[in-house]
Amino acid sequence: MKTGQIHVSTENIFPIIKKFLYSDHEIFLRELVSNAVDASQKLKVLSSQGEFKGELSDLKVEVLLDKEAKTLTIRDNGIGMTAEEIDKYINQIAFSGAEEFVKQYEGKEGAESIIGHFGLGFYSAFMVAEKVQIRTLSRHEGSQAVQWESNGSPEYTIEDIEKETRGTDIVLFINEESVEFLEKARIQGILDKYCKFLPIPVFFGMKTEYINSPDGEQDEDGKVKNVSVDVPNQVNNPSPAWTKAPVDLKDEDYNTFYRELYPMSFEDPLFHIHLNVDYPFNLTGILYFPRIKENVEVQRNKINLYSNQVFITDSVAEIVPEFLTLLHGVLDSPDIPLNVSRSYLQSDGNVKKISAHITKKVADKLADMFKKDRADFESKWDDLKIFVEYGMLSDDKFAEKAKSFALIKNSEGKYFTIEEFKEQIAPLQTDKNNKVVALYTHSVEEHFSFVKQAKDRGYQVAIIDGPLAPHWISKVEQEFEDFSFLRVDADTLDQLIQKEGELPSKLTEEQEATLKPLFETAVDARKFRIEFKSMSETDAPIIVTQPEFIRRMMEQQKMGGGGFYGAFPETYSMVVNANHSKVGMLLETADAEEQQTKVKQLTDLALLSQGLLKGEELSNFIERSIAFI
Ligand code: ADP
Repeated sequence: MKTGQIHVSTENIFPIIKKFLYSDHEIFLRELVSNAVDASQKLKVLSSQGEFKGELSDLKVEVLLDKEAKTLTIRDNGIGMTAEEIDKYINQIAFSGAEEFVKQYEGKEGAESIIGHFGLGFYSAFMVAEKVQIRTLSRHEGSQAVQWESNGSPEYTIEDIEKETRGTDIVLFINEESVEFLEKARIQGILDKYCKFLPIPVFFGMKTEYINSPDGEQDEDGKVKNVSVDVPNQVNNPSPAWTKAPVDLKDEDYNTFYRELYPMSFEDPLFHIHLNVDYPFNLTGILYFPRIKENVEVQRNKINLYSNQVFITDSVAEIVPEFLTLLHGVLDSPDIPLNVSRSYLQSDGNVKKISAHITKKVADKLADMFKKDRADFESKWDDLKIFVEYGMLSDDKFAEKAKSFALIKNSEGKYFTIEEFKEQIAPLQTDKNNKVVALYTHSVEEHFSFVKQAKDRGYQVAIIDGPLAPHWISKVEQEFEDFSFLRVDADTLDQLIQKEGELPSKLTEEQEATLKPLFETAVDARKFRIEFKSMSETDAPIIVTQPEFIRRMMEQQKMGGGGFYGAFPETYSMVVNANHSKVGMLLETADAEEQQTKVKQLTDLALLSQGLLKGEELSNFIERSIAFI
């Protein structure tokens, strides 16, 4: 046996590393298993290059738990190491990596996620072990097997041992504080999280499977009996869908893989995009469009980031634009630098290119679907809408492309592109300033009488709903010239779409001046502004509207945007139709009290039709109405 000192200049790196990696001890297993996978893959490469002439046999990694001995072993049959290699790779490289890591990252956030990229992987074993052994036999013919041992201090021993099989056992003697890693379920959980798609089979213990009886035993019904057998428990799928060529996969395979990623999800995704780039950066992956539910927040952070099939993180906010975090799936890129801080990541050239590439791919896929099968695209639109709107609002390049496939639904449930809709309504809905005015509602039910009146005139009403509606409308107005959106209840139709030549009013100015105070006393004057307009005789006697500008302000304020201080007052216009016979009739009512009652009845009816009559006012109205009968 030989003893030695690991060369480190920083005296006490060991306790420091232990301390600030505290939050994420479990990643030691990812590091050791991926080292074992690397060792196996290296052997494969050497073999294919003819450098290694021995039997490859079945390359695999085994994780072995011995609760009694308090050990956890990671075993591979990869390249193994000679004593010289241990000295070079473990004593020198691994430990100097640890030292460098401490120098650069002491006390900094996010240290856990980059541990593997500092040659610190192996050293992470000491976060959970009081003693670590490396027992290894090199691939070289006639090698002597060796055992290296250390308790994490700079001292180590190395000695010759008997070991028949090629490859490496990393034996961890789990320390007192880390006994959780002697629990089968805990280890299984970590393997599921980080090792699910490693490229070499990884086994952990045994599991029970039910198979057809091998000797054809039958049950009473004459069917072949099911028997249980214990089989090695493979934790990973070494060739996940994203590593395959798209031509080799059917839609069903993509859906199967989706369920593999999200076993708890019961719904198939809407569709997917398979990414496969190798120049100027390396990126593979599959992104899925989920059916987006009301609660957008809980659906975020479902994209998993891998580097050569090793799970890195499910927080990809720095790599993809925010609106794409609504997607699900996997990205795999060895080119995303992980050994840098998060803020640096956003300015990294590769990351920027990757992000732009993904955005483009997503836009192209949608454009393609729209072109190839418009009916199918329309059937998915209600689910896609929020995503496309979000994308258009947050990314100009995406918006540029999405302009051609973003859809508007009208109150009849027919879909149009923005351009089509504009063209469709232009003949009737162009106002005297040459603006095409799109009338819209978020709910036909809620604006029923407004929608009906608009339709009676041959106008179309768009249904624009959802949380992003006000912002999206502003965006479309910016992008399309001479196109504006007004909610059906924003004003009277004549005002919404102003034409040349106004209807003459049946009331003189004096008559209006006589009537106006009657209306002002009938309603809360702070909330309702009374105006007289000459509308068609068939329009309602009074229409309650809310100016588009005020409503948009209120909506944006509700969403926390717009930078307003204090509450925006809720105000409406109460438009009296000067040409309505019942309004004219008021002038002929001589009795002042009766006149006021009629006015009250008219204003209440208008409020009622808008759902604005409530509480005591509503109860008074009902009593008054009964008295009329
Ligand atoms: P990294 O894997 O980032 O290089 P590590 O500290 O994890 O850093 O490992 C240091 C080196 O030790 C590896 O590069 C490899 O050469 C060697 N090594 C670690 N584990 C094994 C193993 N199971 N089989 C063969 N070599 C190994």
